[in-house]
Amino acid sequence: MAGNERLERLRYELQRRDDPDHLLVASAENRRYLSGFTGSAGALLITPEEQYIFVDSRYTEQAAEQAPGFAPVQVKENARDTLREFLSDLDPGRVGFEAGHTTYEEYCNLTDEIEAVQWVATSGVVEKLRQVKDPEELDMIREAAWTADAAFEEILPSVAPGRAEEDIALDFEFCMRRRGAEGLAFPLIIASGVRSSMPHGQASDKEIERGDFITFDYGARRCGYCSDATRTVVVGAADERQSEIYHVVLRAQEAAVAAIEPGKTGAEIDEVARDIIEDAGYGEYFGHGLGHGVGLAVHEGPSLSRRRGTTPLEPGMVVTVEPGIYVPEWGGVRIEDLVVVTEDAGEILTGISKDLVVIDA
Ligand code: ZN
Ligand code: ZN
Repeated sequence: MAGNERLERLRYELQRRDDPDHLLVASAENRRYLSGFTGSAGALLITPEEQYIFVDSRYTEQAAEQAPGFAPVQVKENARDTLREFLSDLDPGRVGFEAGHTTYEEYCNLTDEIEAVQWVATSGVVEKLRQVKDPEELDMIREAAWTADAAFEEILPSVAPGRAEEDIALDFEFCMRRRGAEGLAFPLIIASGVRSSMPHGQASDKEIERGDFITFDYGARRCGYCSDATRTVVVGAADERQSEIYHVVLRAQEAAVAAIEPGKTGAEIDEVARDIIEDAGYGEYFGHGLGHGVGLAVHEGPSLSRRRGTTPLEPGMVVTVEPGIYVPEWGGVRIEDLVVVTEDAGEILTGISKDLVVIDA
């Protein structure tokens, strides 16, 4: 793994921000990103010259294998005591902690019990580095997307009136696992009929009925990396309103994907899709942002939204483009692709056709 280059970028970023040059990294994804260590507990301490990994006896061997560039520090009775002893020897002065991944209780414990250092809240430092993916990361995201798409194609023919959403979800998950996913990127969203107006309607015991829209929002995880895609299908021939709304969303989605290029902000891309939906008269039914970054976390930076989409896109960023129209008590449509920003455009990583699929009923 490209660990050393990531650490160099991190040290540069800390310097650039005027953050402390010592950083305690405790969040699972950031820990994995910097060190390669996948265990469920542990912390990294990054200093200007060295990098340490604190793990207890359950993980000593795994840490040595996965994070060979990190000096191991064995956690004995409890992590705080070990950290306190270690830091009092090191005497680093200021140490940064990850404010977004530290509970208030953990913060109090750090400041109360490890008084020898000055704790400084840092925010989104490693997350910023994670936004731009290297080729190795892109391969894993591509594989996750292919796995999920292949599973979707496999289960689609079995979708029929009378089957419960959660029954389809079970097959879908099994199929992804059998095709090599280590798990789901997030709980499957399968929302049919009036439930499709809930953007995040998790699969329920509702049975599929003739005339339903069904929204499938699905992602696989491979080597820690997530994919994320949405397709909406209709059960039996679409009526006029279903067809109209579907095609408004599709037009907005395709225009936004086509607008992606380095230098533009997420807000600008959001606006492309939102304008089309507003012009068609459905603006009030598109309540969420257009998209988000995807990587080790299924929701990460950069954001493609009006308010938070201030980051200019850069080659190597991976984002979703997922406009939707959700009409309460009626139903909804969302179409979502995973897109990697290239040198001059956006390349779609999800491979399923966006023509409206009609399920025989
Ligand atoms: Zn999604
Ligand atoms: Zn998404």
